[in-house]
Amino acid sequence: MKVQQVKLVMSAVSAKQYPSDGYPEIALAGRSNVGKSSLINRLINRNRYARTSSTPGKTQTLNFYQINDEMYLVDVPGYGYARVSKADRAKFGEMIEEYLTTRKTLKGVVILVDGRHEPTDDDVSMYQYVQYYHLPTLVVATKMDKIPRSKWNKQESSIKKKLQFNQKDDFVFFSAPKNFGQEAVWNWIDAHTQL
Ligand code: GDP
Repeated sequence: MKVQQVKLVMSAVSAKQYPSDGYPEIALAGRSNVGKSSLINRLINRNRYARTSSTPGKTQTLNFYQINDEMYLVDVPGYGYARVSKADRAKFGEMIEEYLTTRKTLKGVVILVDGRHEPTDDDVSMYQYVQYYHLPTLVVATKMDKIPRSKWNKQESSIKKKLQFNQKDDFVFFSAPKNFGQEAVWNWIDAHTQL
């Protein structure tokens, strides 16, 4: 994808606010601080378009970024804030569920995990949830610049094992500062939106 134009067209909390123009969509999900904003900014070649969220508590909305006049990248709010209340967590769960289960134009989900560590229980739940709805999934292991290359294969195996990775899905290593992996992520997105 050659990104010529990016517009944040909607920050939605419910289905009636989703864009209605029918462009295919790819959602991006991951624990807060996993590097999701950094990945989105790399994908769209902007430095600070998607807000980086090292401080918890930003508004929990689904952000629809329209790319050219072709598709949407949908930024799903980060999960796993320790300080979020039970009520907020429930509301968040409903919002994600409504989106993933009803959105006809959703063609696939990119799930980010921190490449340095074993996936958390939240990561596993998210991956299994998306599996359950048969959505094609790309797992992106972030922050790989923090690990020597000699350990990448071992990390990949351990991440896949913990997630109970489905061989039909795909896996990419990524580093924002090294700008590594973004082309592979775009290739996957293109393959799943240009059917
Ligand atoms: P988000 O909460 O998932 O949107 O995560 P951010 O994109 O805001 O990143 C969280 C923190 O991790 C920030 O301090 C980023 O600079 C850092 N970070 C993100 N991606 C990478 C990466 O690929 N490598 C390294 N070393 N740091 C990263």
